[in-house]
Amino acid sequence: LKTVALNIADVGVVTFKESRRARRLNIRIRPFAGVCVSVPAGISFSAAQDFVHQQKAWIAKHLVKARADEERRIIYDGGREISTRFHKLDVQCKSRDSRGIHVRIANGIVHVRYPANLPLRSQQVQTAIATGLIAAYRIEAKRYLPALLKSLAQQHGFTFERVFIKNHKSRWGSCSSQNNINLSLHLMRLPDHLIDYVLLHELAHTRIKNHSQKFWNLLESVYHGARTADKKLRKVERELAPLHI
Ligand SMILES: [Zn+2]
Repeated sequence: LKTVALNIADVGVVTFKESRRARRLNIRIRPFAGVCVSVPAGISFSAAQDFVHQQKAWIAKHLVKARADEERRIIYDGGREISTRFHKLDVQCKSRDSRGIHVRIANGIVHVRYPANLPLRSQQVQTAIATGLIAAYRIEAKRYLPALLKSLAQQHGFTFERVFIKNHKSRWGSCSSQNNINLSLHLMRLPDHLIDYVLLHELAHTRIKNHSQKFWNLLESVYHGARTADKKLRKVERELAPLHI
């Protein structure tokens, strides 16, 4: 099946793909992939180009959104250096070894090596960077969070069963009915006082499973300004760049 990438005035690069499944001309706009047109059998590529010209306004509108989304997903673009609590990110383009992307963690450094034929801002390289950073956060979370949870529990007289580290993007922590506590490795991206807040929040759930006034009173007794911290956490959550593509 034929695939052609053409530069179309006022739109930019458009990929036309012959498709057996498509029933009609179909334009898709996705972050990183750009504008793609599925061309069903029996329709010529030049007819497909005419179609793109007719849909220019619609494409432009959706491209703005896709580009913004793309921008949000760029973790590292060669500018500001990135480090986690205990790791530094080191991204290098390797011109000689041009096969594949390599991610490795050693001596507190997240090494990402990518071939010269891929742009740094490509989805593949950014995904590899996200993978490396998540692996680093996981190492840090395992070292740091269970010990901190244990110490906070002892300090405030809570008991829990087991603690698990998860890669949850939208849930910082949870407490099961058996009082097992799940903590997200993304906690390592938060400042200390918010990590403490999440851990104490889950520890308070070992005694009270709901979010009643009684629960908040208990939490407030071990963490001063719990409600404010909760609001702050929601705010940080919205602002934190997604670490996945
Ligand atoms: Zn809760």
